[in-house]
Amino acid sequence: MRKLILLSLIALLSGCAASGTKPSAAAGSVAALDVRRTPVSTKALGDIAATYLRLTLEIGTHEAGYVDAYYGPPELQKAAEVAPRDKAALLAATRDLMAQIDRTARRLSDPIGRRRAAFLRAQLRAAETRLMMMQGTRFAFADEAERLFGVRPRLQPLASYDAELARIATLVPGDGALADRVEAYLDAFTIPKDRLQKTFDAAIARCRGRSMAHIAMPGDESFRMEFVTGKSWSGYNYYQGRYHSLIQVNTDLPIRLSRALDLGCHEGYPGHHLLNMKLEEKLVKARGWAEFSVYPLYSPQSLIAEGSANYGIDLAFPAGSKADTERDVLMPIAEIAVPADDRYWQLLAAIERASGARLTIAQQYLDGEIDRKAAIALTQKYLLVSAKRAEQSVSFTDQYRSYVINYGLGEAMVRAHVERGRPSRDEMWRRMARIVSEPTLPSDLLAR
Ligand SMILES: [Zn+2]
Repeated sequence: MRKLILLSLIALLSGCAASGTKPSAAAGSVAALDVRRTPVSTKALGDIAATYLRLTLEIGTHEAGYVDAYYGPPELQKAAEVAPRDKAALLAATRDLMAQIDRTARRLSDPIGRRRAAFLRAQLRAAETRLMMMQGTRFAFADEAERLFGVRPRLQPLASYDAELARIATLVPGDGALADRVEAYLDAFTIPKDRLQKTFDAAIARCRGRSMAHIAMPGDESFRMEFVTGKSWSGYNYYQGRYHSLIQVNTDLPIRLSRALDLGCHEGYPGHHLLNMKLEEKLVKARGWAEFSVYPLYSPQSLIAEGSANYGIDLAFPAGSKADTERDVLMPIAEIAVPADDRYWQLLAAIERASGARLTIAQQYLDGEIDRKAAIALTQKYLLVSAKRAEQSVSFTDQYRSYVINYGLGEAMVRAHVERGRPSRDEMWRRMARIVSEPTLPSDLLAR
C-alpha cells in the first residue's frame, strides 16, 4: 500500500492485546540442536517461501487490490494469471503450506530463520482467512482483525471520547454542531490547489531529510507523486521495486495543511516508501528472501506498515517541531496566514486524541449494530468532520473493513516498542530501522 492514510490520523488505542495465535515457529523453546539437519530445514523453508509467493500471486487474481505490491519476476505473475486455481483449491493449498511450516519450523535453529518461518506462518493464516471471506464467510470485527492482521483490538466505548469532545468545544466556541464549527475553523488552513505541489514537495523533502539522517537509504531511491480523484482513501503508496514508489494524493476533498507532513512521512519517509526499500534491500536482495517481493494487503505486514508509517510522523517531527515546520516553512509556501496563537495545533492534537472512535464506529457498523447512516453521523460527531468527509471515511470502511485497526493500533504498538524504557533519540531510530528492515510481526513489537 501502501498505503492508505485515513482522513484524520487515528490516535492511539489503549489496551491492545497480542494475538493469541502465536505461531509455533516463534516459540523460544524450539531451537533445534541437530546442526546437521539445519541446512535441510533452511532449504525446506526456502521452498515454502517460493510456494507462498506463487500462492499469493494466484490468490491475487481473485481479488483486485489483494496484492498491494509485487516486483519479483514478471513471469511468475503471468503464470499465476494464466490458469489460477479456484478459491477452494487455494484454501486447501494454503492450509497444506501452513502444516509444512509447522513441521519445518521445529527443526530451525537460527533465530532469523525462525522469525522468517513465523512471518510466513502468520501471513498464511491471513491468506486462509481472506480466502474464506472471499467465499462468503463473515467473522466478527475483532475476530476478522485478529486473523488478518495478527492483533485482537480492544475497543473503547464511544462515550469515553466525550470528554475530549468537550475540550474541543472550548477551542472552537460558538453555535451550531461542533463538527461544523471545527470544519469552518480548519477551512482557513486549506492548501490552495495551485500551491499543492510546492507545499507537498517541501514537506516530503523535510520528511526525507530527517529520516536520512538516521536510516541509510539506497542512493538511487526515488518516488513520483500524482494527484488523483475518486478514491475512498486520501493517500496511497504503490511500491514498484528498485527503490521506487508512486505516491498518489486524493484531491476529492480540500486538502488541509496538516496533511503535508503527515503524508510526506506516512507514504514516504520514514513510512511506506522507506519500509519497502529496506525490505527489498535487506531481505529480498541481501538474503534472497523472494517472499518479501510480494505484499498481500490483508496480512500482518499491513499492521507493521501502517503502524510504522503513522508513528514515523512523530518520530521525524517530535514535540513542537511539526508545528514549527508548518508555521515557519509550509504555511508561507502554501500562502496560508500564520495564526497568532497555538489554537490550531491544540485543536489538531485534541482531534487526534478522539480519533480512536473511528475503530469503535467501524466495529459497530461492520458487526451490524448500527446502519450506514448512523455510522456517518457518529463519524461526523467523533472525528469532527463534514458529512462529505464522514461519507468518505465510511466508504473506506466498506472497502477495507477491519483494515482500519492498522492505523491507530499499529501506531500505538510501534510507539510502545520504540519508546520502551525512555531510550535516546538515536536508539529510537535504531529500533525503527529494525522494525522496517526485518521480518517483523505484531507479536515481535510486544517482545522485550
Ligand atoms: Zn498507509
